[in-house]
Amino acid sequence: MKTTRRKFIKNAAQSTAIVTVGSSLVLNSVEAWAVEKPVLQFNQIDLPYGFNALEPNIDTLTMEIHYGKHHTAYIKNVNDAIAAEKIAFENEHQFFANISKLSVKARNNGGGAWNHNFFWQVMKPNGGGAPTGKTADAIQSAFGSFEKMKELFTDAAMKRFGSGWAWLVNDGGKLKIGSTPNQDNPLMDVSELKGTPLLAIDVWEHAYYLKYQNKRAEYIANWWNTINWDTVAKQL
Ligand code: MN
Repeated sequence: MKTTRRKFIKNAAQSTAIVTVGSSLVLNSVEAWAVEKPVLQFNQIDLPYGFNALEPNIDTLTMEIHYGKHHTAYIKNVNDAIAAEKIAFENEHQFFANISKLSVKARNNGGGAWNHNFFWQVMKPNGGGAPTGKTADAIQSAFGSFEKMKELFTDAAMKRFGSGWAWLVNDGGKLKIGSTPNQDNPLMDVSELKGTPLLAIDVWEHAYYLKYQNKRAEYIANWWNTINWDTVAKQL
């Protein structure tokens, strides 16, 4: 039985795909591990553009370190936690919906893994401008105008004390803006702000300090020039 378990952990660690185990639970028995299926793994997406592609809004060195060091570490550490703590959920949504039952390591690194995968995709070279179509309609209906939404989102990003994220989410058909501390996200059961993320900005200093130093407002203002509204529309 021990051999089976070790083999399983090895297989799980090598798995690169998100696969199901049939039920959502924290496995706590050797018998459960005998189910020879890999557990949830987090994978770092390929950056959809080059490290320099978001210049001058986000500088190349920041992107290299942010993607190559910070994000890579979150991915490794959450997968280590999943293996060490025998966490077996069907998918990322189940993982976050039960995050209050997991360790701080799983919470911080799971959030860091997911949030950055999302963040890279809501940006693109030559992005920005105003949303169109159903995204524009949804934003206008929820906030009155895109300008007002931008103001509220910027405010949430500015007022997040210390490290964290600001979000636009769809909470059961209602668009909401808010922020989360550390690497928490709106998919987590512990989060005050809940919903499906539509847009997010990382306001950790590691996201902007090399270029902007203490000027978070300038970083946020320029970040609007990178938005990939197609990604936002896809989540709606
Ligand atoms: Mn970050």
